[in-house]
Formats: sequence, C-alpha cells, structure tokens
Amino acid sequence: MSSLNDCIKFHLNIEDPNIIFSDYFKKCINGKYYKLYVAELIYPLCPYCHSSNLKHNGHYTSNVRFITADASHPVIIRLKKQCVLCNACLKRSMAQSNLINKGCYISNTSKRKILSALTEDRSMTSIAREHNLSVNTVQRVLESCSSKFYDYFDRLPEHLAFDEFKGVGKKLHFKRSRKYILHYAGLYDCYSK
Ligand SMILES: [Zn+2]
Repeated sequence: MSSLNDCIKFHLNIEDPNIIFSDYFKKCINGKYYKLYVAELIYPLCPYCHSSNLKHNGHYTSNVRFITADASHPVIIRLKKQCVLCNACLKRSMAQSNLINKGCYISNTSKRKILSALTEDRSMTSIAREHNLSVNTVQRVLESCSSKFYDYFDRLPEHLAFDEFKGVGKKLHFKRSRKYILHYAGLYDCYSK
C-alpha cells in the first residue's frame, strides 16, 4: 500500500527521495485558501566528505510556492530543511534539493512554468494573476535567465531588442525585451533565421 508521502509526491510530481511529506491541510492566508503540504528535506550524507556520520542540528523552514494545474488552489510546501554537523569533517550544512534553489521561495518547476508562459504572447500581469504571483516575481524569474549572457561587456550580440528606452541626465537606459532574454536563454526562437 502506498504511503501518504508516496501519494503526495505522485500528485505533485516530485521525485526527490530526500523530501518526505508528513501532512497536508488547507490554510487561509490573507483571505485566500492555500493547500499546504508539510515536508522534511533530509540530508543522508555530508555534501563535503560524503560521510553519513552526521549530527542533526534542527531545521530551517521555508515556504515554497509550487504551481499546479489548478491555479484556483495555490499550493505551498512547508519545507523543513535539515541542518547537520558532520562528525567526520566538522562542517555544518543545510539540506538542499533540486526542487528549489538556495535562498529562493519559488520552486524550480514553477519557474519553468512561468518561463514557458512568458514565451506566449501575453502580458506579465495575466501570467502573474493566473499563477497567484506578483508581477515582480514573474519579472524576477525572467531576469534570472538573463544572467546567462552577462559575461561579455566588450561587445554586443548580433541581435538586440528593447522594450523601453529612456534618457535620464546624460545616461541612456535600455530595457531588454522579454523575447530577447528568452531567446538568449534558449527558450524562444524569434530571432532565429
Ligand atoms: Zn563531512
């Protein structure tokens, strides 16, 4: 028989074996009902020396926004990340997962869904509304993939596209277009010949 953990992971399409779900309930936050899932993120081995001789030292809890097909019931995963002290190399660490990047509060699956929606011809406001996110969050997800081409300051790429242009004092500001950012992140082929 499947466990509660297996059922939730099947439902949310989460495969990380280090994430163990233990509970779920509905919670009203700012007048809106959220489906809240409680999980522990364990660390079986030290990330530095791979020793399993670990001393558990509490948890760091982060509330991860997780987008599902039914946007009318937003999902939050209350992820309790295990903090450990390695008895072999004496280094401290906190459990990490591919589900979410360090310091983020929105899951990587959700980011991919937002990026996919951004390749469609629709406004960021409509994407934000559909996924119960702020427009700023959608903008940040878009900007996060623009870091892939920040490396070359001595030359400009062959194609450039701008959404906005303004002059303040003697400085000129250009805002790169969304399709341009997505193209250079390999997610949109509007500039391909
Ligand atoms: Zn270690």
